[in-house]
Amino acid sequence: MADKQLRNIPYTRPSITETEVAYATDAARNGWGDHCYDYIIRFEEVFKAHLDVKYAIATSSCTGALHMGMHALGIGPGDEVIMADTNWVATAAPIVHLGATPVFVDILQDSWCLDPQQVEAAITSNTKAIVAVHLYGNLCDMDALLKIGERHGIPVIEDAAEAIGSVYHGKRAGSMGSFGAFSFHGTKTMTTGEGGIFVTNQPDLYERVLTLSNHGRSRAQGKQFWPDLVGYKYKMSNVQAAIGCGQIQRIDCLIEAKRNIFLMYYECFKDLPVRMNPEPEGCTNGFWMPTLVVEDDIPFERDVLISELKQNGVDARVFFWPLSATPVQGRKAFNRRFISENIYLRALNLPSFHDLTDSDILFVSDIVRNAIARTH
Ligand SMILES: *Cc1c(COP(=O)(O)O)cnc(C)c1O
Repeated sequence: MADKQLRNIPYTRPSITETEVAYATDAARNGWGDHCYDYIIRFEEVFKAHLDVKYAIATSSCTGALHMGMHALGIGPGDEVIMADTNWVATAAPIVHLGATPVFVDILQDSWCLDPQQVEAAITSNTKAIVAVHLYGNLCDMDALLKIGERHGIPVIEDAAEAIGSVYHGKRAGSMGSFGAFSFHGTKTMTTGEGGIFVTNQPDLYERVLTLSNHGRSRAQGKQFWPDLVGYKYKMSNVQAAIGCGQIQRIDCLIEAKRNIFLMYYECFKDLPVRMNPEPEGCTNGFWMPTLVVEDDIPFERDVLISELKQNGVDARVFFWPLSATPVQGRKAFNRRFISENIYLRALNLPSFHDLTDSDILFVSDIVRNAIARTH
């Protein structure tokens, strides 16, 4: 038991090597004056190549990328944007800031992503966009969502903050919608400390976001310090981009580490009455965060298990709350009971930083197994 007390297992932590340190050091030492955008330009280029998209704009956060992209799509007061009720608030905040209303629909039992049927039923004459959030790396049903978007003339946005490494029938998450947004926050699969990126294949949308991202200064504008419109300041710094260049160089191994961790948890839990992140035929899950949902008919106290893990030095996290139950100014699309209102009480996220050892995974798994075995 002495071993137990010694463990300190965070739920996430970046994987930083000498490569990132060397690039960041170079940016801090030399990345000024004429070189102040060098790493930013390079980072955008390599990220575009990784994702196979035409345009990218590095940003200070995913939230900022979403905000500018939604603004560029013309989302504003009186508009509605459909998204899943189970979500991180960052997806909803830009909608609210633009004066529009997030309309929450229910999630699917298996992917925990928005239910396409509910999306279509929630469309009104005010609907301006659908946001597909690939939750915990799990892919949304993009075929169905893109078809709905096409049928109704509504853009589908991809919030792929949690889905680097996830591939939908040969296409990377974030590359399929009108635009995609990624996060490089310190908890994500790859990091720049804080940071994000806007990606798209649409030249006109790219131009609009480029202008918005530069305080509204169009790149065709000849006058210095002349704003063509009121824009934003959500830029990534050169030093952050330098770290990003190191991370993207190692992206395959960062994703593989996440996948291996998930697969080991999955093996440990395969005879338990639980569901974990799915990986449907033809898809690859980046498995950003291994998540466990205990079946409905099994008695389960999420908070008891989380505190038991904490007592053993293990930091597990709660599943996302239904945003409709929080102070976010949105509304539920339908007046009925949602899966999102129940699932978070039966679920938790397990530690998954890249350097987590097999022994740590077995240690965490034993505590979880024992807790669930006690109740059934
Ligand atoms: C992390 C996250 C964001 C926000 O990313 P930031 O870079 O912190 O703005 C947005 N959406 C989802 C789904 C996230 O997980």
